[in-house]
Amino acid sequence: MADTLHPARRGLMLILSSPSGAGKTTLTRNLKSENNLDLSISVTTRAKRPSEIEGVHYRFIDRTAFDTMRQHNDLLEWAEVHGNGYGTPRKEVEASLAAGRDVLFDIDWQGTQQIVKKARADVVTIFILPPSMAELRSRLIRRAEDAEEVIVKRLANARDEIARWSQYDYVIVNHDLQTAYEQIKAILTAERLKRSRAVGLTDFVDQLLTEQLP
Ligand code: 5GP
Repeated sequence: MADTLHPARRGLMLILSSPSGAGKTTLTRNLKSENNLDLSISVTTRAKRPSEIEGVHYRFIDRTAFDTMRQHNDLLEWAEVHGNGYGTPRKEVEASLAAGRDVLFDIDWQGTQQIVKKARADVVTIFILPPSMAELRSRLIRRAEDAEEVIVKRLANARDEIARWSQYDYVIVNHDLQTAYEQIKAILTAERLKRSRAVGLTDFVDQLLTEQLP
């Protein structure tokens, strides 16, 4: 399989990144179900949280399986985040794009950079910021699914992740989920309408101009 994605006649890749706890998981779930998007399900070596479902939130795999996928070039991108391996399985994404479907990703800045490098014209990137660090911490505590030392680690990493905001096409501050959701939908709608993505527009306009009027 070639390592580069070809832009012609492919769907777009919508990438959301944010520090853990900024609300991205809820946003991606809602976006997927209401906007005709395929959600890329990542593989990860981290432990499953109680509320998570295998194959829905992630495919949970061990380090050996992760390394094998990397070595076989089965991952479109991968990164180490909070001491665990995370990666995007290539096959499903390529199948969706080849069928002209748009794909939604919930990945970190490192993975975003890798995909942007491979297919800039087909990628739209959005960074979601929390309204404040205090709010980010209370969201992580409220979620109550991670051990305390994990929360401390995630908060420390959040500063590094937030520092990457300027590498993204769009930046949204998640004051409230509904507003953030509407803003992402507006971005998606506009990006889908971009002239450069409108396959078949030339034929349509040719027809329009040669249409015989009664
Ligand atoms: P969490 O463990 O909280 O689910 O995710 C931790 C971080 O890993 C989040 O920033 C999330 O976006 C990122 N992440 C999840 N899946 C992937 C992936 O496949 N690739 C990369 N690069 N990052 C991922």
